[in-house]
Amino acid sequence: MEIFFGIYFFIFGLLIGSFLNVVILRLPNKVNMVTKRSACPKCGGQLKWYHNIPLLSFIFLKGKCAFCGTRISWRYPLIELFTGLVAYWLMPNELSTMALANSFFYFSIACIFICHFMIDLDHHLLLDSLNLYLLAILLSYVIFYYNWPFWVLGGVIGFGAPLLVTWIFYKLRGQVGLGGGDIKLYGILGLYFGPTGIMFTIFLSCLVGAVVGLVLIGLDKMTKDKPMAFGPSILLVAAFQIFFPQYASIIQSWLF
Ligand SMILES: [Zn+2]
Repeated sequence: MEIFFGIYFFIFGLLIGSFLNVVILRLPNKVNMVTKRSACPKCGGQLKWYHNIPLLSFIFLKGKCAFCGTRISWRYPLIELFTGLVAYWLMPNELSTMALANSFFYFSIACIFICHFMIDLDHHLLLDSLNLYLLAILLSYVIFYYNWPFWVLGGVIGFGAPLLVTWIFYKLRGQVGLGGGDIKLYGILGLYFGPTGIMFTIFLSCLVGAVVGLVLIGLDKMTKDKPMAFGPSILLVAAFQIFFPQYASIIQSWLF
């Protein structure tokens, strides 16, 4: 029984991953997500339903467009596979409303993070629509489970501290450091992580961002006029805190 349950959640995750690919591609460009059929970006050939089966289509088509033979990026099957594995990993351990709600909560966060991550890499944008969706999910949790001073203060610090630093940086250097999407994301995460948790997020994500930035400069992949997306650093650290809280709290206890 357990194994069928696992396979079911894995396939469910693959299908959601396929949808996330569409979201990542279309949401920043404001293309309708549901009604418009998928087409090859090169030749415009409209995909048939059997070209749209997660993972399998990519394998059968050998990673090429069925019409013109243009290579399809590896990231599509990879995002499908990754989402499938996440769904499997987060599947409820029993069939109770509580366990299902818990799974849904964590899986929703994972899906938003995947879209945020990829869209920020592609466009240097953390979209308001995804931030609002995340806000709704986290708020519905913290209102039930946390005392309000905890999450309100977390939100204020998460939003206020990066805003203040960005403002000071702007006054001193005339440059905008963090984007508005980054600051909003910190604020929303602050509700869930609370005051010390969000300080940890800010500190560690700046550290991760600095290391990634140095590596990119070393590899000659980043120039002054082509800055790097900072969102992925925030999302990686936040994912570490949300999905591996036992390890995150160990590191956090060293720091604070
Ligand atoms: Zn094509």
